[in-house]
Parts: sequence; C-alpha cells; structure tokens
Amino acid sequence: MAGVRDVKGTLVRDASDKGAIEWAAGILRSGGLVAFPTETVYGLGADGLNGEAVARIFEAKGRPADNPLILHLWGYDALNQVVSEVPSEARVLAEAFWPGPLTFILKKNDLVPDAVSAGLSTVAVRCPDHPVALALLRAVGRPLAAPSANLSGRPSPTTAGDVLEDLAGRIEAVLDGGPTTHGIESTVIDLTVSPPVLLRPGAVPPEVLRKYLPGLVLAKGVLPELSGGEGGKGDDARPASPGMKYRHYSPRAQLILVRGEPEKIPLRVRELAQDLSGMRVAFLVTEETMVELSGMVNGELVNVGQRNKPEGIAAGLYRILREVDRTGVDVIIAEGIPLNGWGVAVMDRLLRAANGVVEA
Ligand code: AMP
Ligand code: MG
Repeated sequence: MAGVRDVKGTLVRDASDKGAIEWAAGILRSGGLVAFPTETVYGLGADGLNGEAVARIFEAKGRPADNPLILHLWGYDALNQVVSEVPSEARVLAEAFWPGPLTFILKKNDLVPDAVSAGLSTVAVRCPDHPVALALLRAVGRPLAAPSANLSGRPSPTTAGDVLEDLAGRIEAVLDGGPTTHGIESTVIDLTVSPPVLLRPGAVPPEVLRKYLPGLVLAKGVLPELSGGEGGKGDDARPASPGMKYRHYSPRAQLILVRGEPEKIPLRVRELAQDLSGMRVAFLVTEETMVELSGMVNGELVNVGQRNKPEGIAAGLYRILREVDRTGVDVIIAEGIPLNGWGVAVMDRLLRAANGVVEA
C-alpha cells in the first residue's frame, strides 16, 4: 500500500493519509494493536471490549498483569457503555475537562473484560483531546484500551519514532500524527470514593482540580512533600494506583535527581560531577542553571526549559530522556523543579525514574 512503511513487521502510516483512519480501525476491530497519538503521549490501542486483544497489550509492553489500563472514549455519551454508575462529579468534570488529559476511576460494568481492569471492580476512562485519537475512536465505534505505547518501565513515547524504538515487530501498526503536545500523561482521579483521590499527577494540576473538587486528597506515595502532611503520607492515606508501585519512565542510564533551593543547585551539580569523573554524564538542567554551569562541567548540558515554565519542561521531558539515552551516557543528572502547576507531574515522573535523589 502506498505511504505504508514496514519497520520489522510493524506497519507505519501517516495519520493524515486518505483512508489511514479506516485502515487502522479495521486492524483494531480484528483484534490487532495500533499505536496512535493523543494530546498526552502515544497510546497503544486495542479493542477495549475484546479481552484477547487487550491481553496482547500486556504481552507487547511487558506490562505487569496487575496494572490496569485506561479505556479511551470518543465522548461523554460513551461513558455508560463501560461504567455502572456515573457520579455527579464525573458529569461536572467531564464538562470542564473532556476531551482532555483527565482520567476518572469509576465502577465498571460487565462488558469490561477483566484484563482491562486487572481484576478490579473499577475501570479508568478518559476522552483524549486529539483529532487522530477521536477520529479513530469514532471509526472503531468501541472504547479503546490504550496505555502509553512504550516497553513497560521506559519513558513514554511522544513521537511515532519513539514507539518504534520500543515496539517495532511487537505490534501491528503505528498511526503517525507527529509529536504529541503535552508530553506527559493524564491526571488520574478516583471518583468511586469520598473524598475523591488523586492517584497519578498529570497534565491537569492538583490546584486546578481543587476548584471543582475542594476535598481532593493525594494517594499514598504521591509526592508526600507536596502538602506537608496532608494526604499522600499518613497510614490512613488512600492506596495509590496499582501501577504506581513500579519503577517507571526510566532511561537506561542511571538517573540522579538533584533538587532543593535553586541557588544551591549549580554548586551541588558541580560537586556531583567531580565525584563522577571518568563516567559519561549528561546534565538535564533548567535554562537558569545552564547559564551557571556552562564551561564548568564535563559532559553534555541539555536545557530542559525555564524553571517557572513547567508545561514546556513536561512537553520535552520524555523526548530528552530518550535522546540522551541514545548517546550512551552512563549517568544523567537531572535538576528538580518547583512543585506547582505541571511541576507536580514532572517531579512525580523524575522521582519514579531516579535511581537516587540528592538534596542541594
Ligand atoms: P498508563 O496508561 O500506562 O499511563 O497508566 C494508567 C494508570 O492508571 C496506571 O497508573 C494504572 O495503575 C492506573 N489505573 C488504571 N485503571 C485503574 C483502576 N481501575 N484503579 C486504579 N488505578 C488505575
Ligand atoms: Mg505508561
């Protein structure tokens, strides 16, 4: 077929090609796996109501079987196809944030295969804000289970090339829709409990959600330092998502996260660099720190963006981690950023990727 590339048996097609969406929908309907762009990262899609197709996602990604998947819907009207109850918060939040990067945990109905929910009585759902994802969902006419299209544990993919780096030969197809815009995953909130619980920080910051859910608490293990004791910390805090216990978003190189007062970071990074002499090191630092370090350390200095613009840092984070990894460095020293706005999700990912944390 014209315009279709074969990469180790995985077919790659430009999403804007005439007929590409129908072609991908056909593969999904017959139980195949197709990676496609969303506004967050690339998802690895399968027919969400076909247990066998969903099981193949776990195989292709090497994903632990106890880590449930998000079902993607074309709109709020599709919700009652997969859940047994719609609490009033879900309606209000869907109106405010869908299509968009906010995932709800709700009570599932009997149509949702156990493979999707990893045996739980709940299911994760969201409506992605991307024309290719929405067109594909409408063409298939069924919910799509779609976790990030990376090998389990690796940084999530933000381009079709990233997907192929991990999954070529393991999945049927990739729809190439160019780089994703947000670059970080959706925020996951559990609406089956009261008060609602934030299970995974993501592209909708906690302070934005609190305007709609003033009682929102953080799950155990979600950045306990965020709230100085509230949620996320004590023994009575809610458990996090099953997936949050795994090491995640990791490059192959060792990653050391340096965080603390911005003024102290450049010196601390220089000290670390001295300790690591003889190793190949890359430095992922803010523009502000880059100025301070220029000419002072051996290794590649990578500018992740301005410290007070966490959206920009989020958008490039996974791409930069993959790029730096390809250069074959031994160690990545990454600078921590303030815990506000999208900075919460960025720091959550860096902490999960890190082999060690150093306070500046
Ligand atoms: P991914 O799609 O790979 O970005 O990951 C989806 C996230 O949602 C993981 O952290 C899952 O553990 C979480 N998740 C999915 N379904 C549920 C559920 N029913 N209950 C709690 N967490 C869930
Ligand atoms: Mg993932």
